[in-house]
Amino acid sequence: MSTRRPLVAGNWKMNGLKSAAGEIEKLVKAAAGLAGKLDLMVCPPATLVTSFAVLAKGSRLLIGGQDCHPEPAGAFTGDIAAEMLADAEASAVIVGHSERRTYHNEDDALVRRKALAAWRAQLTAIVCIGETEAEREARRTLDVIARQLDGSLPDEATAANLVVAYEPVWAIGTGRTPTPADVVEVHQSIRARLTGRFGAAGEGMRVLYGGSVKPSNAKELLTLANVDGALVGGASLKADEFLGIAAAYG
Ligand code: PEP
Repeated sequence: MSTRRPLVAGNWKMNGLKSAAGEIEKLVKAAAGLAGKLDLMVCPPATLVTSFAVLAKGSRLLIGGQDCHPEPAGAFTGDIAAEMLADAEASAVIVGHSERRTYHNEDDALVRRKALAAWRAQLTAIVCIGETEAEREARRTLDVIARQLDGSLPDEATAANLVVAYEPVWAIGTGRTPTPADVVEVHQSIRARLTGRFGAAGEGMRVLYGGSVKPSNAKELLTLANVDGALVGGASLKADEFLGIAAAYG
């Protein structure tokens, strides 16, 4: 029986204005009732991290960032440092999301440096990995996952500072999901890679599934072996829908 505490995290991507504060207020209220079962997190755009962290202060709702620069400060126009997210009272940051890997050409080596930056700032790093459709069709999924884990995770990873999110690129925002058997196969292989490299600590590291999770498929996906929660995009923008996913742990 797993002792890993589930995490349901919402990635708002480039969505959300100050007027979305009401969604956070609903989540703050609901998080108290969910605290016995799971961790609930929202990763809003950087402009909203501070105000959402103020709303969530003292509650069980966690606030995270969506990306950080590897350096703590400097001449990097438009970027945000992990230290800035921590200063805004985020407790985690997503790194290596496939949209960053694709649109910003981020590779495993850079993602690894970003994870180290997160830890330098005392943030949990949520490291995303996942195969493209072409890689899956070529039956290379497990090789791709292994290569991404090896390249993106620093040696300093622990069960406390790291969350892995398995997100098949072709399932993000498409309404398509892998079969439960496929999810189990990949999560099992991620677990084996983590324990192979980090020993007992690898057993405690949470591995989330992400890609078109919604209330209607959450229970089926989130109760699978070695699935320790979800990273949710579109369905995290409305509190009621997001809580419908968290209800998989009800
Ligand atoms: C994501 O971008 O992390 C994601 C899982 O998106 P969606 O839930 O919209 O597929």
